[in-house]
Amino acid sequence: MLFDAHTHLNFDEYTEERRKEIADEIASSAVSFVVDAGDCVESTKQAIKDAEDYEWCFASAGIHPEHASRTTDADIEEIRKLAAHPKVKAIGEIGLDFYYGKDNKEDQIEVFRRQIRLANELHMPIMIHTRDANQITMDILKEEGAFSEERLSWFPARPDGKGGEAPDARVQLHCFSGSKELALEYVKLGATISLGGPITFKNGKKAAEGYGRSDGRQNLLCHSPPSVRHCECRQHSDHRKRKTG
Ligand SMILES: [Zn+2]
Ligand SMILES: [Zn+2]
Repeated sequence: MLFDAHTHLNFDEYTEERRKEIADEIASSAVSFVVDAGDCVESTKQAIKDAEDYEWCFASAGIHPEHASRTTDADIEEIRKLAAHPKVKAIGEIGLDFYYGKDNKEDQIEVFRRQIRLANELHMPIMIHTRDANQITMDILKEEGAFSEERLSWFPARPDGKGGEAPDARVQLHCFSGSKELALEYVKLGATISLGGPITFKNGKKAAEGYGRSDGRQNLLCHSPPSVRHCECRQHSDHRKRKTG
């Protein structure tokens, strides 16, 4: 079964017509289910609407690091409320992006920490976006208990590929581009990694080489190219908007 764990059917630049066209394409494809990833309050609301419209669609609720500096307490509260919807299955996408956001690292870290705490409070999976912030993302996840014994006890273990079981912290890193050492540490901690677009970058290639040879294959997710492109396109266009004020 194919399950696309990270897509953006909610993309705010789609007309309703275009969104419907993409939904029809998904419905007639080999993909059985998708997670429509929210990245702010508005896109989370759209993701929930998509999940209500389509049986095969689930949503995640969260605020992307690119919105960190304009995130208010009320926004976090809104995410908490939206996460109660029965088709919201994760908090995300949340994380750190120091490639685009060099100037607001402290804001990003604060919003990231608050949403990991929210996921822990609600006992929900976490979907991570991380770019140029590999080690600090892991440090913060550890500090906030994303791999704690308590958290691991909330979720069933998964097959380890050798006839046994491995812990599953329900922490998913999408588009991972860190080192292979970091990838393997994540796997040991019970995270799931996807190697998306960054696999074509120098670092991503190194991670993929080590990863493909390791037991981590059980924790590997693949992105279908459109999902990655949607995510990256959105960031590029947002970045340009910011640059031009
Ligand atoms: Zn992302
Ligand atoms: Zn995304």
